[in-house]
Amino acid sequence: MTIEITRIQSFPNERTAIVTGAGAPRGIGRKVVRKLVSEGWNVVAADIDGTAVEQFASDLAAESGMKVIGVGVDISDQAAVDAAFERIDAEMPPIAALVNLAGIPSPHSFFELTAEVWDRVMDVNLKGTLLMTQAAAKRMIDGGFGGRIVNTASITALDGGGTFSKTGYAAAKAGVQGLTRGTARELGKYGITANVILPGPIDTDIMGGTLTDERKAGMSANIPLERVGQPEEVAGLINFLVSEDSSFVSGTSINVDGGKHMH
Ligand code: NAD
Repeated sequence: MTIEITRIQSFPNERTAIVTGAGAPRGIGRKVVRKLVSEGWNVVAADIDGTAVEQFASDLAAESGMKVIGVGVDISDQAAVDAAFERIDAEMPPIAALVNLAGIPSPHSFFELTAEVWDRVMDVNLKGTLLMTQAAAKRMIDGGFGGRIVNTASITALDGGGTFSKTGYAAAKAGVQGLTRGTARELGKYGITANVILPGPIDTDIMGGTLTDERKAGMSANIPLERVGQPEEVAGLINFLVSEDSSFVSGTSINVDGGKHMH
């Protein structure tokens, strides 16, 4: 008897992953770019800080021998996203994965959350994720071998606020969960998976500077592993979610928070 396995697609050897939010030197994005390059991906390191990603990418390309380019883009701006993809189309192998990591916090308390702040937080965290995904998914569909979308929410979406962000951020990141589920539902027929990760506190500069030991201790209080996470530990999960090994994982939310939330 022959068992016919359908709809498990493999990616071409020469393939590209796009990682947004790769500008911050101590951020999660750079660790993801490095991890994917080490796994044989060509990578677009994208960020609103074009100078930072261009330098980072050219250094990594020289070091690794892979195709790595840095692209400056404000993901919340449709024209900028279109221009970024024009460059990616011209310079890179087919796109098989998009990792949406670019995001901004919102420390404003409830009554400080002005309409202007709200709009920017939604524009970057939520609309930016949509615009990047629409552009990448069109290319994945044309490529005909499926693809992987990984979005980034936060456990703040579950808690309604956290150590560095409050209502606006929680709302945007909860929106990213809904966006991910919609993406998974509508694009599954093309072999495209979409999943969302919810990091707990990770040791980056998202709060505007390096975390003090005292701050880390406070943030670790309700975490079974009794520490904050490292960007590499988020990169490991993302590496799995963009790989062929995750081909039947879609529409799901995965916490990477040291056990803070168990469900
Ligand atoms: P980070 O601040 O170190 O890096 C974020 C990057 O996004 C920066 O390089 C920034 O320039 C870029 N960016 C901001 N606005 C942009 C825009 N409009 N267009 C393109 N790029 C833009 O943050 P991080 O800690 O690496 O976080 C990465 C993601 O993980 C974010 O979405 C964040 O909300 C999420 N997250 C982080 C933590 C944490 O504790 N660090 C926890 C939960 C979720």
